[in-house]
Amino acid sequence: AVPLVVAKSTSLSAKHGLLIKNRTAFENSRKISTIVFDKTGTLTVGKFEVARVLVIDHQSNDHQKWENEMLRIVAALEQNSEHPIATGILAEIKKRSLDVPKAIDFQAITGKGVEAMVEGKHLKVVSPGYLNEKHIALPEGFEANGSETVVFVIINEVLYGYIALSDTIRPESAEAIQTLHDNGIKSLLLTGDNSQVAESVSNQLKMDGFFAEVLPHQKLDKIKELQQKGEFVAMTGDGVNDAPPLAQADIGIAVGSGSDIAAETAGIVLVNSNPKDIVSLILFGKATYRKMV
Ligand code: ADP
Ligand code: MG
Repeated sequence: AVPLVVAKSTSLSAKHGLLIKNRTAFENSRKISTIVFDKTGTLTVGKFEVARVLVIDHQSNDHQKWENEMLRIVAALEQNSEHPIATGILAEIKKRSLDVPKAIDFQAITGKGVEAMVEGKHLKVVSPGYLNEKHIALPEGFEANGSETVVFVIINEVLYGYIALSDTIRPESAEAIQTLHDNGIKSLLLTGDNSQVAESVSNQLKMDGFFAEVLPHQKLDKIKELQQKGEFVAMTGDGVNDAPPLAQADIGIAVGSGSDIAAETAGIVLVNSNPKDIVSLILFGKATYRKMV
């Protein structure tokens, strides 16, 4: 029976761009009780688009001018980052045909943002969670909104403005989650993004819950917690940060053309990050090995 399974999985591989690196991981598909999904690029398209730009205390009514001035220095910083947020901001710069200066001393603020020196100014672009942690008040009238990922711009330690970006849920995601449900598998969302966005995606897809504003090193602990509760956990991820939790999960599924480190650690690699392929893979594994035992 084994060669047949291998043959079948190979043809599935060819069709779906699937690499089963660890056969045991695949055989274990039948035991999965929970799948933990990363958000950006798996359940969503992963293309952030700038939806709104706001400069808090702009000194004239020429909004566009102040926005552009902030965007160009933010872009200088984001040129050093590979985060989908950075890609979204750089696309906006192209649209507006702005010239981007050079940043120096670039550093990531792990799970919370990025910082650098640009034109002699210390610039930070950070998550709402970072503002909260530093007790920096949100701009007046600002309301978080589940359809936007917001990053705040801090210049020389003063809150200067924000950029709201939107991503789109993949059309296939809802059906994938539903199919998992029909097969008795719970789905959870795990993201570094803010809780309004996480809750909104989780609700729209009728998922069983979400973990938001999770720092890279906490992702591993979330997987462990689920396992301690008796769950048999599969996890999808694409980032460098996802390698430890992918290794901890009972089945790690590296998706997309993301980081090589994630792909090295995971038992299964999917070239596409389509959630439908993830579901086919798991159900196929389930069906195959159920018959064998
Ligand atoms: P995830 O992979 O779930 O998006 P990350 O740890 O990569 O989680 O990012 C968490 C948050 O940190 C982002 O939602 C954003 O607020 C902030 N962040 C990370 N990288 C950047 C960046 N290059 N520019 C602006 N904000 C960033
Ligand atoms: Mg990430």
